[in-house]
Amino acid sequence: MAAKRPCTVTATVVLTLFLWTHLSVQAPVNGSKWSYLGAEGEKMWAKKYPFCGGLFQSPIDFHDDILQYDSTLLPIELEGYNVSSFEQFILTNNGHSVKMSLSPTMNVRSLPNRYSAAQLHLHWGNRNKQEGSEHTIGGRHFAAELHIVHYNSDQYLDMNSAADKSDGLAVLAILIEIGQFNPSYEKIFSHFQNVKYKDQETSISAFNVQELLPDRLDEYYRYEGSLTTPPCYPSVLWTVFRKPVQVSQEQLLALETALYCTQQNDPAPLEMVNNFRRVQEFERMVLVSFRQDPVRSGLSIGFVLSVVVASSLGAVAVLALAFWLIRRKKSSKRTKEDKGVIYKPAISKEEENTSKA
Ligand SMILES: [Zn+2]
Repeated sequence: MAAKRPCTVTATVVLTLFLWTHLSVQAPVNGSKWSYLGAEGEKMWAKKYPFCGGLFQSPIDFHDDILQYDSTLLPIELEGYNVSSFEQFILTNNGHSVKMSLSPTMNVRSLPNRYSAAQLHLHWGNRNKQEGSEHTIGGRHFAAELHIVHYNSDQYLDMNSAADKSDGLAVLAILIEIGQFNPSYEKIFSHFQNVKYKDQETSISAFNVQELLPDRLDEYYRYEGSLTTPPCYPSVLWTVFRKPVQVSQEQLLALETALYCTQQNDPAPLEMVNNFRRVQEFERMVLVSFRQDPVRSGLSIGFVLSVVVASSLGAVAVLALAFWLIRRKKSSKRTKEDKGVIYKPAISKEEENTSKA
């Protein structure tokens, strides 16, 4: 057994190197099934999809130690995002998420290449634990996350040929939190009943997809990572916007309860919930386009207040000490002066009178 181990290790290394140098490997080793839980859950992905166990994996947590401000990061510029309502987007349940096809006339500018839109989809939690974002900030999950997937249309013909290339994809990620009703997200969410089951699809009127993004397109996290689903190709230039957008509690609940991973006639229906990958280890720097404020950089309001109170108390203590020292000095000076006085014995009034007499 011991003699066999080096051969196994060598074979594994060779296979891994082979896969790394042949990024065009598309087909999984055994079939194409995967899920978020169970026997085909994310811990098992790497067995069929070697890249899932490789480098540059997404999603990640954005914590202060790995963030680096970069003044050269330009605001995200979108082109053609306002699609005419005469056009249609196809909404599909692909068994892992709800996906909406997008027009390749939608582009992201301000990146090293032109990237054209292919599709968008969502990740979410469940009705009891509404923490389904993939990326986290300082360890904190958001309720859900929208991914708008683009391919490098300067270099590649389409999404499929770009997906496994190191400069192939660019994803805009939008964190979603509970808040106000969002009429723009409703343009997608209101069609969930038509795509409840796997492989169902419906067409919806196109709209201005920029409405799904936060207002601030100049504040984001930027890093090079991977697809967050098998085959996990390390081919994604990530832009995760700093500010989340809001949807209402009811809208989020619709996302968490309307869809199934299974087909309509499946005797064991499986709810489409918790379709987010856990954060991956990350030991490089994430560039940020904005300067951290004290609260974001880990200095909580409580900490800042503590520092202010402690400083004030310190100042009072120093003043009190100084005041006490001055008083002490004056008092000791007075004592010294007092020591120099020669006291004459008092003469009683009678004696005085007598002597005068
Ligand atoms: Zn995604």
